[in-house]
Amino acid sequence: ANEEAAARAAAATADTGGPTIFDKIVSKEIPSSVVYEDDKVLAFRDINPQAPVHVLVIPKVRDGLTGLSKAEPRHAEILGQLLYAAKVVAEKEGLANGYRVVINDGAEGCQSVYHLHLHVLGGRQLKWPPG
Ligand code: IMP
Repeated sequence: ANEEAAARAAAATADTGGPTIFDKIVSKEIPSSVVYEDDKVLAFRDINPQAPVHVLVIPKVRDGLTGLSKAEPRHAEILGQLLYAAKVVAEKEGLANGYRVVINDGAEGCQSVYHLHLHVLGGRQLKWPPG
């Protein structure tokens, strides 16, 4: 039963390279609560928040970045823009006492959506190490 559960979890988190729900969020086909937006980056509230503030920061165009592990030299600029946007989001959300930025990558990282995203988490005392 454990093996079955593990197989199901692995299958559910496979990187197919196909469109994800985040494409529909970028196109506004699916509504989201936008916290920050510029020409390259969109930040919106996570639908299943793990902290009082839980915002996802994504590139509007995926360009092969299904996850951080797929990054190529051409992605260096957008990677910097995403990280800087995470800082702007944290500031806008009033996380002056601290916060965490997380990228889950692949099955063992518990990635579930294969469109690169940074989680900005805060508004409570976070624990270390994460689960
Ligand atoms: P991952 O597990 O690191 O891939 O994170 C994916 C995140 O996307 C999870 O925290 C989900 O709660 C979140 N999520 C999935 N669908 C939606 C949505 O439609 N709106 C906002 N957040 C979503």
